[in-house]
Amino acid sequence: MKNWLKVVLSTVVLITLAACGNSGSANQEITGTDESHLNVVATNSIIADMAEQVGGGLVNIHSLVPIGTDPHEHEVLPDDIQKSEEADIVLYNALNLETGNGWFDDLMDTTGKVEDEDYFALSKGVEPLFLTSEGQTDQADPHAWLDLQNGIKYVREIERIFSEKDPENAAAFKDNADAYVEKLTELDSEAKEAFDDIPEDKQLLVTSEGAFKYFAKAYGIEAGYIWEINTENQGTPEQMKQIIDKVKSSETPVLFVETSVDPRSMERVSQETGLPIYTAIYTDSIAKEGEPGDSYYDMVKWNIEKIHDGLSQTRGEAEPLDKK
Ligand SMILES: [Zn+2]
Repeated sequence: MKNWLKVVLSTVVLITLAACGNSGSANQEITGTDESHLNVVATNSIIADMAEQVGGGLVNIHSLVPIGTDPHEHEVLPDDIQKSEEADIVLYNALNLETGNGWFDDLMDTTGKVEDEDYFALSKGVEPLFLTSEGQTDQADPHAWLDLQNGIKYVREIERIFSEKDPENAAAFKDNADAYVEKLTELDSEAKEAFDDIPEDKQLLVTSEGAFKYFAKAYGIEAGYIWEINTENQGTPEQMKQIIDKVKSSETPVLFVETSVDPRSMERVSQETGLPIYTAIYTDSIAKEGEPGDSYYDMVKWNIEKIHDGLSQTRGEAEPLDKK
């Protein structure tokens, strides 16, 4: 335990709470306040949504990283510390996701949480894929949830943890998880055939971050990117040259951009290649409530449909989706 950090952060909590009340939680997701229910904290909105599906109103859920924001790096707020301290369960992805600036390890350390007792890695059962950039090949790629079969493993792990901590509600958690897994399995089967009608030289999905390794492997397309992971330098001249060359030597008709990254690098790729950015897709966050893609299921469904529609366009004639 880093005691000095605990002292510093506790002081920050007191000063901030005194100065501005609880404004730190303004745009973060909190559902349920029943005191008899488990208090669950998730590191991001995707995990929070999965937990909500399994919990079905029998757990209180709070997401640390707000919707639309990059979970690789996160500035821990006083409210995050308070919510984590009060949590019966903290759920995180692991697999090199929350390690960007070490925010999650520091938070668990500060709040005195113990792995596999208080906080749990949902990616435990996943077979990891690794980064391919020079000097990074020993680091796992975190974006396992974009393969629905991995998402199902997360869901079963959440069910196991909830049932262990709240055995009285175990039957309800199982029913919720069973129904949810059935829906995800169906979508996975659809996705496995979704890109069969697209010619191979057009099957290149271009995004800013290389978040689609698991997706590409599961659903049979190729993934290209500007930078491989959000924690590295983004849009360097070499990265730009590499992706522009790759796009030019393919027949892919459109580019994509993720909702949780700065779009400017992809806008430059668009200018250089003359290809439009077809639409925004979801990688590290779900959409805001009420918008398309506001759950894990809906974000993956949106991705599959929009990637399919985009890659089906004719090169030179394609237009951005919202201009049609
Ligand atoms: Zn990412």
